Amino acid sequence: ILSRGVNEVSDCIFCKIVSGEIPSKRLYEDDKIIVINDLNPGAPVHVLVIPKEHTENILTASPDIVTYVKSKLPELVKMLKLDEKGFRIVINTGEDGGQSVPHLHFHILGGKQLGWPPC
Ligand code: 5GP
Ligand code: ZN
Repeated sequence: ILSRGVNEVSDCIFCKIVSGEIPSKRLYEDDKIIVINDLNPGAPVHVLVIPKEHTENILTASPDIVTYVKSKLPELVKMLKLDEKGFRIVINTGEDGGQSVPHLHFHILGGKQLGWPPC
């Protein structure tokens, strides 16, 4: 895999969003993650929590980044005004899991009662 910057994978759309090569409105950003609106929302609130460091999925991810995202969740769902009524977190993984972008990301969906499957 060709890498351009530290951890950046050259043909990865989320690495391009993280680096700013593809512009995006960041609802939240720190040194480890960005939060952006999903391009194709499946609920009134549908954001993506994207770790800055490229890793393909939840299986390849370090436990540290998963712990980090969990530690930020209360703050993020409050920011999204989902703390009162609840929300759903989705981590699609691999082909049968419906993962279309092979850079780990957490969907947070809310703003209405969600059916199953999500979206
Ligand atoms: P997955 O199917 O891999 O779990 O989720 C990928 C998500 O990324 C999809 O919900 C899709 O709508 C979203 N997405 C794909 N490309 C872009 C993009 O360029 N910008 C944003 N904001 N979302 C994207
Ligand atoms: Zn990437």
